[in-house]
Amino acid sequence: MIVGILGGGQLGRMLALAGIPMGLRFRFLDPDPHAPAAQVAEQIIAPYDDPAALDQLAAGADVVTYEFENVPAAVVQRLEAHARGGGVHPPALALATLQDRLLEKQLFVECGVQVPAFVPVATRDELAAAVDRLGLGVIVKSRRMGYDGKGQAVIGGMGMSAGLPAAIEQAWSVVSGHAATGGLIVERFIDFSRELSLIGVRGRDGSTRFYPLVQNHHSRGVLRTSIAPAPDLSPGLQQAAEDRARAIMQKLNYMGVLAIEFFESRDSSGAPVLLGNEMAPRVHNTGHWTIEGAPVSQFENHLRAILGLPLGDTRATDRCSERSVPRGPVSAMINILGRFPRAEDILAIPGAHFHHYGKAERPGRKIGHVTVIAETPAALAAAVERVQAALPC
Ligand code: AMP
Repeated sequence: MIVGILGGGQLGRMLALAGIPMGLRFRFLDPDPHAPAAQVAEQIIAPYDDPAALDQLAAGADVVTYEFENVPAAVVQRLEAHARGGGVHPPALALATLQDRLLEKQLFVECGVQVPAFVPVATRDELAAAVDRLGLGVIVKSRRMGYDGKGQAVIGGMGMSAGLPAAIEQAWSVVSGHAATGGLIVERFIDFSRELSLIGVRGRDGSTRFYPLVQNHHSRGVLRTSIAPAPDLSPGLQQAAEDRARAIMQKLNYMGVLAIEFFESRDSSGAPVLLGNEMAPRVHNTGHWTIEGAPVSQFENHLRAILGLPLGDTRATDRCSERSVPRGPVSAMINILGRFPRAEDILAIPGAHFHHYGKAERPGRKIGHVTVIAETPAALAAAVERVQAALPC
């Protein structure tokens, strides 16, 4: 069986590394001659919108998937027309919905997920009216092509000394380019306690599985660490998140892995609540811990799903042998950004696994990650600290 994948970055590389033991072969389309996936599988080097390259990718593959979400709809349509029978997954409807923050928010609401209050806007006057309606603070985001905090501006809180009109003007100067190309969305700024994410997978037969919610730490818009399972989770939150995610996947007739990012906040009665922030129709950085931290990784489960194979166990592997030790996080993922640590420093840490994406070092670039697994939350915290100390930046 051959799996065609649009995009040959580290996510594609890890999909191939998960599928090769199952006898699968991979063919990637990526314009970058140094794509990380090319080191482990065949690559077609061509632009993503090259019709002949798309036909070549689809015609030779039993099923096609993608590892980034900014795939133009026309590309998916072309792939669907030429796919050899297995089709393109996740489906075009999911891609179109999750590419637009407004449609994504509306889907959250339809499926019972609470979200920060939001208003779509297209002009500076509409932005001012939205701020008036929502109250301060707010965050303005581009509806399309935004990731890792790019194309966003906050109004309110810090930097408001010059007054509201100046703050609106300042935000507008950051986002006006996006207003012209796909519109904007203004959201109430949430005073959240932490960011959590849920990775779910839905198979061809409609069956679903969910990994435990994980706790994520971002810095300057970029994911730094994930801790799994999220510690001190209120009873019922996991189930609530799974029920909503299942409804979303059903509505989109979804197949494959879906990642949902939440803010954990409190409702008016002080009870913890999850607010939906965004979704990704693909394997996700906050699920990398599953390679060593769960019986079946997000990468293998994505492949199983799109190939119509039975889905695998998504529970965090609990290595604790002593019943008296309280349960808590047993896995962590730490991103390697910009420069590699010495492999020997990482591998000297008990329970640490080093993942190198085969990419060149460049400031701020995601070039690898470390997974740590431990028997107790305390041992995990100690190992994470040692990994962080071993990272050059
Ligand atoms: P996003 O691109 O939507 O994931 O946003 C990037 C980061 O900005 C998030 O990880 C949050 O830390 C922050 N952020 C986004 N939306 C909000 C919001 N409504 N309230 C508070 N912080 C936000």
